[in-house]
Amino acid sequence: MEVTLVKKCFIFLLSLCLIAGLAGCGGTSEKAANTDGKLKVAVSFDAMREFVQAVGGDKVSIIEIIPDGTEPHEFQPTAKRMKLLHDANVFVMQGLGMEPWAEAMIKAADNPKLVVVEAGTGVSAITNTDEDEIKEHGQYDPHAWLSPSCAQIEVQNIADGLAKADPKNAGYYQANAKAYKEQLQALQNEYTQKFSALPHKDFVTGHAAFAYLCRDFGLEQKSVESVFAAGEPTTNQMKELVDYCRDNHVKTIFSEELVSPKTSETLAREVGAKVQPIHTMESSEGGATYLDRMKENLQRIYESLQ
Ligand SMILES: [Zn+2]
Repeated sequence: MEVTLVKKCFIFLLSLCLIAGLAGCGGTSEKAANTDGKLKVAVSFDAMREFVQAVGGDKVSIIEIIPDGTEPHEFQPTAKRMKLLHDANVFVMQGLGMEPWAEAMIKAADNPKLVVVEAGTGVSAITNTDEDEIKEHGQYDPHAWLSPSCAQIEVQNIADGLAKADPKNAGYYQANAKAYKEQLQALQNEYTQKFSALPHKDFVTGHAAFAYLCRDFGLEQKSVESVFAAGEPTTNQMKELVDYCRDNHVKTIFSEELVSPKTSETLAREVGAKVQPIHTMESSEGGATYLDRMKENLQRIYESLQ
């Protein structure tokens, strides 16, 4: 008799626990989906994260689709990552062919409320001229985020997208975008003046990521790898680079974290130049912001051309 009672009590308590547990569980998962009322914004890579952070401030929580430290041009999503857009409110991508996987991922998300922002929409695109490049990567050079003037267009597109997904904070997003665009414009003005006074306009970098920046300031880039950072240069290409550096008095070879710094070092040794880091914002670097890194890029290119 006593045993049955204990048993009954136990079962009663167990069901209470189960009910409480289930309720608790439901409560937590709901909270996680809302991430404390913040807008859930998925971004493709670091530069997009920077722009979304600048515009979205404390009203957004950001998920990066491409794991930090992965060369974004070579990214292929795993089956698990394919589902990352399922409960996002906004997806911010560069566009211009930078994210060939995005279309399938958006489809796989099965998320009708998802607002998709192609940040590069409205940028005057630079077309690829190399035939192999076009075959492999499409029509356009995707690196528009590395130009202070194109970045302003991208920031505005992002503000409009966040405002669409979260209209009650539209004023906040637009005000942040305006302030950020002013900082980009200030950089643009400062270096337009500085670069225009220089006799040399040519610099050598890791992969050809700076065509839009060059267009902004009337500069010329040469890269040790192709636009999309794939493959080492051949012996002939290397000889061409060496001649180019000698002909154009190149004294600095820029190198990137994710793109064969070895080639840059070899070239620098060959022509008696020094190697300096340059930032493509394709992955994060010790917490330095986009503006910090852009300022550093412009200043270093400027110094290298003197
Ligand atoms: Zn790149």
